Amino acid sequence: MPTTCRKRFSATSAVNAISFKVAHQCPQCGGPIVLDEETRFFACDFCRVKSCICQKGFPRYMFARSEQAMTHPDAPDDGDLLFLPYWRFKGISYTCTAQGVTHRFLDISALALAGTFPNLPVSLGFRTQALALKQVTPRTRGRFIRPVDITTILDQAQNRLSRKKGLVGPGFSENIGETLSLIFAPYYHKNGILVDAVLNRPTRAAAGIDIALDDLPDCRPEKQTLFVAGICPSCGWDLEGSNDSLVLICSNCSTLWKPRDRHLKKIHFSCVGPGHDTDVMVPFWKITADIPGLPLASMADLVRLANLPGTVPADLENRIPFFWAPAFKIRPRIFLRLSARLTLEQPAPGVDQLIRKNIHVPVTLPADEAVQSIRITLAHLVRPRAEYLSDLTDLKISPRRAELVFLPFEDHTHDYVHPGIQAGINKQMLALSSNL
Ligand SMILES: [Zn+2]
Ligand SMILES: [Zn+2]
Repeated sequence: MPTTCRKRFSATSAVNAISFKVAHQCPQCGGPIVLDEETRFFACDFCRVKSCICQKGFPRYMFARSEQAMTHPDAPDDGDLLFLPYWRFKGISYTCTAQGVTHRFLDISALALAGTFPNLPVSLGFRTQALALKQVTPRTRGRFIRPVDITTILDQAQNRLSRKKGLVGPGFSENIGETLSLIFAPYYHKNGILVDAVLNRPTRAAAGIDIALDDLPDCRPEKQTLFVAGICPSCGWDLEGSNDSLVLICSNCSTLWKPRDRHLKKIHFSCVGPGHDTDVMVPFWKITADIPGLPLASMADLVRLANLPGTVPADLENRIPFFWAPAFKIRPRIFLRLSARLTLEQPAPGVDQLIRKNIHVPVTLPADEAVQSIRITLAHLVRPRAEYLSDLTDLKISPRRAELVFLPFEDHTHDYVHPGIQAGINKQMLALSSNL
């Protein structure tokens, strides 16, 4: 099963032309490996041993100088390099206004300095695709400038986009499914001019920038990526998954594992038994949450908020609502449709904890991002939306539990279809979504 799963869903990284490359060393044999930034699970090209990446928080990378750049007559010693911070963000930004929920793709690499520095490169531009990134380690020498908070950069990007699209009025935005990393680019001073240390080319930064940069606070950004062997801690079987899987499967003992702090942690899951061998098992987060800002104590409350036609069945008054969201990255329209359909339908058939031979779609969206999506799902469902907009804008969502549930989808010609909720996932979209 998962072998097929890997074949079907991992080749998609090639279609993503804007994925960064990151240079690592195999934790088993020390061999040099270059991975896509989204990679979480891989087999080493040299020793074939599988490893999982444990990343606490966001990764911190840097551009390293080539041999040629380092031997340039003007090139300084490593210790004299000045690293400027850039936030790298890739994800989908949902915006909710009284008119509805819209979305756009954000892919930015923005200079993360507090203050204005005319003519400094404001983004990493083409370099990010041409050069592999490296981890910043405790041994990396040089001065690293502390970045401003990512929210400052995202707010600026949001404002620019809103102005461009002419979006005004009340509402809120939520960013889902993001890649977030901090990337440092090396520079040095030469005769009062700031020089790009990768290209050994002077920047157009204003004279005196060396003094202005001297005033900014430093940081030491090393936080090394840890690896853990891709072997089931329970039975020793090889774990399986796609290269961007956040959760790995042991098909031998029917367990699911998530890398955390140099270990693999067993995670609870449920499966709804498939009707056919060809059914595809699709993962969803089923979340219970406290949402004090809206009347949402029962399913009946949710149906009333959605203003669905007909009378509300009495048994819904006693059923607590679960919020469902895909546990995989998928195009925004499908993500919203699946979340809304499942949250309204609340599928509650019998479940077990068996991993079968069916294809399992990899889990690529973490639970905390699924929790973030609840506000967007609610904004998509409530009617009339304008009436609830200010409540939704101020909404505080406190998750109580997020459970991973695999639902069987039938394999139709162009789509995987869940017959109970009458919702499908276009196969091509699923294949393309691996690196959203
Ligand atoms: Zn190796
Ligand atoms: Zn096992």
